[in-house]
Amino acid sequence: MRRLKKELGQHILVSGGVLRRLVEFLEVSEGDTVVEVGGGTGNLTRELLRTRLGRLVTLEVDGDMVKELRKIEDNRLTVLEADATAFDLCSLGENVKVIGNLPYNVASLILENTVRCRSCVPLAIFTFQKEVALKLTGKTEPGWLTLFVHTFYRVEYMMSIPPKFFFPKPRVESGVVRLRRREDAGVGDLISYKRFLTRVFSGKKKKIKNLIPQDIVNRAGIDPDLRPHQLSLEEILRLYNVLER
Ligand code: SAH
Repeated sequence: MRRLKKELGQHILVSGGVLRRLVEFLEVSEGDTVVEVGGGTGNLTRELLRTRLGRLVTLEVDGDMVKELRKIEDNRLTVLEADATAFDLCSLGENVKVIGNLPYNVASLILENTVRCRSCVPLAIFTFQKEVALKLTGKTEPGWLTLFVHTFYRVEYMMSIPPKFFFPKPRVESGVVRLRRREDAGVGDLISYKRFLTRVFSGKKKKIKNLIPQDIVNRAGIDPDLRPHQLSLEEILRLYNVLER
């Protein structure tokens, strides 16, 4: 195998069993459009092509990998040399399922981009560093990104993947997460919502009354002595709505 590029997070999943599970989690129906983030050597790409999907678009930044991926012969497959942190998923249709064994250095940016494209992404399966996956599913103390994602998607922890199932082996365990889109939460402006969340979560150890003006906290009906990670999603949204008004 050609040298893999560590800086691009190239850890290839080499377990057929794990690849099959990932694809199962995606619940592919006949004719679906699927986007794969980071095709790499095409292990997951080939597994996806065994389903009855109608169209598979693989995004890959590495030109060498793109050449390899284009050797896969299947007329349902399109390989795009593109950066998944900024790619407009909605340019591919109104209903796009997304899957990826994500490069860890840009995994949160890819997740953020998916949320931006939520109007056309009902379901996504992503592999993260296990620590990040646990945080995103709320199993450990949440951060701004956890709340940001939970506003739009229900997040489930699907399974852990030990390093031995990758080549080269990463230093840490991985965790697979499923995102299933929720009813619209009524948050329109993502830029201001992100600014609000990063502000609230910038002072994790602080009480909410020291992060947001007390009259706003009171008007939102929130206990001012709570710390950011103790607030529920409903409380966060209430606070945001009072602040925005
Ligand atoms: N899907 C393969 C490879 C996963 S490794 C498998 O499961 O085995 C992650 C892949 O993402 C690498 O091929 C890397 O080149 C690619 N990648 C890294 N940054 C990216 C980005 N910003 N956009 C798209 N692909 C990226």
